[in-house]
Amino acid sequence: MADECAIDGCTRSAAPRSALCWGHLKQRQRGQPLRPLASRRRPGSFATAVDAAIDARDIESEDDVAWTRALARLRMAIHRRAEVLAARMVARKTKSN
Ligand SMILES: [Zn+2]
Repeated sequence: MADECAIDGCTRSAAPRSALCWGHLKQRQRGQPLRPLASRRRPGSFATAVDAAIDARDIESEDDVAWTRALARLRMAIHRRAEVLAARMVARKTKSN
């Protein structure tokens, strides 16, 4: 079982052979300051869905557990985004009637 990410306040699992989770590894690779990750973003936002997709893409293909978890997170993010958009459409229809 993977350890937790070494970044303060991050509860994600560390990537294989790393002290950091995938999201924080990515930030470091990009030369960005290490900051809290997308999971703290608003559920149902477009950004949350995009980040879930990026995380899934970055999983090492042989890591089945991480892959399954990332896909579940992506599915949930897309589902929540769809709910937000559907609610918005309903609200728009109600207004125009
Ligand atoms: Zn982290």
